[in-house]
Amino acid sequence: MKTPEFETIVGLEVHVQLSTRTKLFCGCATSFGAEPNTQVCPVCLGLPGALPVVNREAIRLAIVTGLALDGSIPEVTRWDRKNYFYPDLPKGYQISQLDHPIVDGGSLELPGDESPPRRIGFIRAHLEEDAGKSLHDEREGKADTRIDLNRAGTPLLEIVSRPEIRSAQEAKRFLTELKLLLEHLGVSDCNMEEGSLRVDANVNLRVSTPEGPVPTPIVEVKNLNSFRAVERAIEFEQQRQLGEFLATGRRQGEAPKQTRGWDDASQTTRLQREKEESADYRYFPDPDLVPIVVSRDLIESLRGELNRRPSAIRHRLIATCGLSDYDAEVLLQMGPAAIAYFDQVAETSSDPKRAANWLQQDVARALKERGESIDRFPLKPERLGELLRRVAAGELTTAQAKDVFRRLTEADVEVEGAMRDLGIASVDPSAIDRLCRELLAEHPQSVADYRSGKLQALGALIGAARKRDRNADPNRVRERLLELLAETA
Ligand code: ZN
Ligand code: MN
Repeated sequence: MKTPEFETIVGLEVHVQLSTRTKLFCGCATSFGAEPNTQVCPVCLGLPGALPVVNREAIRLAIVTGLALDGSIPEVTRWDRKNYFYPDLPKGYQISQLDHPIVDGGSLELPGDESPPRRIGFIRAHLEEDAGKSLHDEREGKADTRIDLNRAGTPLLEIVSRPEIRSAQEAKRFLTELKLLLEHLGVSDCNMEEGSLRVDANVNLRVSTPEGPVPTPIVEVKNLNSFRAVERAIEFEQQRQLGEFLATGRRQGEAPKQTRGWDDASQTTRLQREKEESADYRYFPDPDLVPIVVSRDLIESLRGELNRRPSAIRHRLIATCGLSDYDAEVLLQMGPAAIAYFDQVAETSSDPKRAANWLQQDVARALKERGESIDRFPLKPERLGELLRRVAAGELTTAQAKDVFRRLTEADVEVEGAMRDLGIASVDPSAIDRLCRELLAEHPQSVADYRSGKLQALGALIGAARKRDRNADPNRVRERLLELLAETA
């Protein structure tokens, strides 16, 4: 039998750790990497009598995200208890949101040149608290598991997409754009190694058969801790589900929903459990927490943050700053601090294109060499802007500017001071102009030779310029001579 055609259906659930200083319902710190069980209190330990108090910053970040994803923010949002037993869940329930999530609907446009643009819809986004972490002792002969509750109660926003993603590559594209948005809005650091962004994928197929398309049972794949893993897991499930369908003919509804875990070592998914339905969690409204009424004033006050959406930044960089699509994309990928840095350099230099080039090349290289992030880069953007302004004005050659740049990353001096340190005199562009005009007037034969195609005549003119002024920069002389020759042609 020939392999049938099929369509891949993917919906993603993305758990995002919000960048709040403290937990969702208590004042404990959320910082990563502290000694186990040092960031805990009676609330997040679930001790009797302790009462939760909602973190307003988490609410604010969730609303900003919802608005940025073009979702709607219902007036009332409510907390529910999701009951289950697991050693890393001290209360025996997770505070989450079932019927009244903080964000309804929404969609995300994927960058690219499709027309119309590709959009992936969202079902909802809700707030919930994270659980603790089980630490398994993996030494030979040891079987201990210990629990670290530092993470218990950390705020998560679970963003649930519609099953509108159609391939592994599209899943990666979607996640890349979503991550960019969360980073630029300052909602999350999206550090996947530290678990700040965790993805579950719901995958099934719609297989073409003579009687029409048939959906296969939906499989939820967990433990996807890189975008690469998401891609590979979807590709693996395509083949596995197709094989199973061909072998058993079982369609959606004829087999229980499965939860499978991605195993990075073998690059396969493994059955973890047959999926429980939400009824199994005995959800009910949390009696310790009142519903939150979201004021329309709060929503309006947060709309200003939307100009930090990647789509808005892209548009600004291309339409207002005159950058290419490619340059805009590279800057965006460098992160929100790079955009702020770029804006400052562009403003001081009045030369956004030059600012973008220097950021992508010289600044990026220097950061890499120093192993630093841009917010710790010692060269202040105003100084780089001043340096580039002088290059644009013709006071410095690009080669000289590179030396000054290096000096500025090493010492806390102004551009003027760095030039003095390096013995670079600021050139008066009008002096070069005067020199070149004189040369052209005094060497009519060289000019005629050049015009008749003998390009080496230009070399003779540059040589004459050097003879007259030892400090005249040959590159600059060449540049100006060419300009004047073009003007008088
Ligand atoms: Zn606590
Ligand atoms: Mn969840």
